[in-house]
Amino acid sequence: MRLYETRVRDVVEFEPLSATVRMYTCGITPYEATHVGHAFTFLTYDVLQRRLRDLGFDTRCVRNITDVDDDILDRAAHLGVHYLDLAAGALATFQEDMRALGLLEAWSEPRATSAISDIRSFIGRVLASGHAYSVGGAVFFDASTADGFGDLGRLDFESMAAATSEVERDVAGRASPIDFILWQPSRPGEPVWDSLWGPGRPGWHVECAVLASRELGTQIDIHGGGADLIYPHHECERAQAEAASGETFVRHWMHTAAVHVDGARMAKSAGNMEFISDLRGLFDPMTIRLAIVSNHYRTEWEWRPDLLQVAAARLDRWRDRGSGSGALDEVRDALDDDLDTSSAVAAIDAAVDRGHGVSEAAALLGVDVCTSPSSWPGM
Ligand SMILES: [Zn+2]
Repeated sequence: MRLYETRVRDVVEFEPLSATVRMYTCGITPYEATHVGHAFTFLTYDVLQRRLRDLGFDTRCVRNITDVDDDILDRAAHLGVHYLDLAAGALATFQEDMRALGLLEAWSEPRATSAISDIRSFIGRVLASGHAYSVGGAVFFDASTADGFGDLGRLDFESMAAATSEVERDVAGRASPIDFILWQPSRPGEPVWDSLWGPGRPGWHVECAVLASRELGTQIDIHGGGADLIYPHHECERAQAEAASGETFVRHWMHTAAVHVDGARMAKSAGNMEFISDLRGLFDPMTIRLAIVSNHYRTEWEWRPDLLQVAAARLDRWRDRGSGSGALDEVRDALDDDLDTSSAVAAIDAAVDRGHGVSEAAALLGVDVCTSPSSWPGM
């Protein structure tokens, strides 16, 4: 199998460390419903997992839950609710959405708040390694000490500084604008944990670095997420994980492209989100899944409601042919070629045109063509 590797910027042969492929995907911050852009990322890694299992690998996919960070705390304060109550509601909707879309169960879904003591000992190791400094109740990572800091996104210093200030609060003591927070004092009303550096809470990037290595070990095969996470989030995860372990953190970085609506990236800030929970009231979940996975993961694409009509008509044609192994080899080849789901869908269409049943090929995309739509809840 060949996959694009973000750091190398090329399609390379995928070579896992062992027969068990260890994957980490940055999961959700549970404070709002899951939109099509999020689902595109999770479905991409779901199709990848299905093909890896089809190839005979075992897979361990970890998807974290960022249940304490600036976003969720700001939203909870705005709504006047406890942040963990906000998280519980959004998490339940997320899990229902993903089950409906047919996602394979994650090997584990650890919550950031479950890892506070691991995070504190990790920060202690990073400090001991000389890659971090503590000042005024905060701990910052010293980016200048990290090997190849910025390589993942290939950004210049000014761009990195701007991106860091966009996602991190301005906490006193930061020596360089690209240094990032490992530990920070909590604001009034925010959750607070004791630490050697003062009461406070972790930074966002350290949560993923710790959860990934706690669940999967210090070297993982694939680290995924949306392309908007390359910098600072993934670069900062990498820098601190390697500072703590002295090993290469990730063998294969993989990122999914943005989904747009009328030319703007689908995001909370743009107010143009299409929520999976809303779509599920209107369409068979397999139709929603097919509409999303028909797009190649590295190509930015435009969400339009008529994509659902197109997918519904396509799914009807696939279902009409019944079960069978038509297009299976073509779909395997397409997925081995940098997870080319668009070509896989085209190959299945062609097999259907030739009169073949395509249930096995569709199953590699996670699309169930054997269950009738009337049996789905919500229909
Ligand atoms: Zn993450």
